[in-house]
Amino acid sequence: MTGKKLPTLTADDIVSVQPMTEKSKVLDFKYGPREMMTDEEKSAMERFSKAVQAVNEFFRHSGSRYRDDTYHIPCPNCDGTLNFGGNSYNGHVRAFCTTDGCCSWIE
Ligand SMILES: [Zn+2]
Repeated sequence: MTGKKLPTLTADDIVSVQPMTEKSKVLDFKYGPREMMTDEEKSAMERFSKAVQAVNEFFRHSGSRYRDDTYHIPCPNCDGTLNFGGNSYNGHVRAFCTTDGCCSWIE
């Protein structure tokens, strides 16, 4: 043990872990050769791009994406809810569907 004080996690921090874990997966899909993808990876990428489109569409209508707020829209891929939020500090947007394994990312 280093004796270093651990940061206090809030519910928000815990939620953000999932999209960050999923990100590396998404990037692999993005940069991997398409013909090498499994069907599962292809459909995950389809879900991802549909959801990104829905989020971008939402921000186009609502103005700035760099707001510290959380939004909820129906997921374009399933019956779940797509949760996403901006971070004005680093400009990141993170998003995840409430359905396990549907889609999640951070950008
Ligand atoms: Zn979904």
